[in-house]
Amino acid sequence: MIKAVMLDFGGVYFNDGYHRFISAIAEKYSIPREKVVKVILDDFVYGTGFVIGKANEEEALTGAFKKLGIKEDWRKWHKTILKWYTPKKKLIDFVRVLRNDMKICMLSDQTDYIMELEEKYRFFKDFDLSIISTQVGTAKPGRKIFKTALNLLKVKPEETVFVDDNPVNVEAASGIGIHAFHIRDFESNNFKKFKSLAFL
Ligand SMILES: [Mg+2]
Repeated sequence: MIKAVMLDFGGVYFNDGYHRFISAIAEKYSIPREKVVKVILDDFVYGTGFVIGKANEEEALTGAFKKLGIKEDWRKWHKTILKWYTPKKKLIDFVRVLRNDMKICMLSDQTDYIMELEEKYRFFKDFDLSIISTQVGTAKPGRKIFKTALNLLKVKPEETVFVDDNPVNVEAASGIGIHAFHIRDFESNNFKKFKSLAFL
């Protein structure tokens, strides 16, 4: 029996403003998207520890822009990225129904952005538990963040469903026995599988 659902935030619960930002930079400067992903996400957002609260956004973004050889104002991008995080209404409505029967947990690699979005959208009230990488000092796809969530929810891996738009995180959750789904769009087959499993 499924007792809990863990949801990624960017790309699952909300549209991911950071991915749109990466695409915008790649397009503006004609840099291959994979290179922008590597520099901004791997080298700086994760590499500096920004995502686990060990560096700030100014350090991460100014460093990334410098390495990419571009001149951009990180403050201006901060505002634009925030605007690009928008609710995925269909999924949110579905999760509200699920909450009648199971615990709902947010499991997100996020920075202060999430607190600014909370001010605007007030979504934390829709979760029984919210685990944010900057607040717990550890991030996906590391096992520790999944184990922390399982312990706090008091559920076993096999009683849990996890949904993420990043296949690496899905693999990590699967590896510890959680029913994990890679879902990008609402109508995908994986979403249908997730829905049928969640209602078991
Ligand atoms: Mg995501």
